[in-house]
Amino acid sequence: MQITRSSVATMIPPGEWFTGAVFVDTIAAPSEGSRLSAHNVHFAPGARAAWHTHPNGQTIYITEGVGLAQRRGGPIEVIRPGDRVFFEPGEEHWHGAAPDRFMVHVAMAEVDDEGNSVAWGEPVTDEEYGQQPE
Ligand code: MN
Repeated sequence: MQITRSSVATMIPPGEWFTGAVFVDTIAAPSEGSRLSAHNVHFAPGARAAWHTHPNGQTIYITEGVGLAQRRGGPIEVIRPGDRVFFEPGEEHWHGAAPDRFMVHVAMAEVDDEGNSVAWGEPVTDEEYGQQPE
C-alpha cells in the first residue's frame, strides 16, 4: 500500500472574488516549464465566483453536487457531475453552486506570460444569481 499525503492546506479565497463559502485545494501550480494552474473547489449552497475572465480560457469539470454557470449575455446553465465547461479566453462568466446544493469542480487554466490565470470583475449580485436557469 502506498499513500501520497496531501500537504497543502485548503485555502479560503479573498471575499472580493467570491460570494458565500468557498474552499480551494491546489492541484497544480504553474512553474518553470508548466503553465498549468489547477484547483479543486468546493462551493457551499448559494456560493459563486464573481464575474471574471481567463486569459487563456478555463475548463471546469464538475465532480459533485449541482452547480450553475453563465457567460455574459447568456442564460444561467445548470451543471452536474460529469459535465465539463470550457470558457473561451477573455469570455466573461461566473460559476458556482445551486442555491440549495453544494457543488465541487476541478478548475484548470493556463497562466499567461505574467503568471495570471484569471482577471476578476464585479460580484454576481443576488438579482443576477436569482435569474431562473434554462
Ligand atoms: Mn472561471
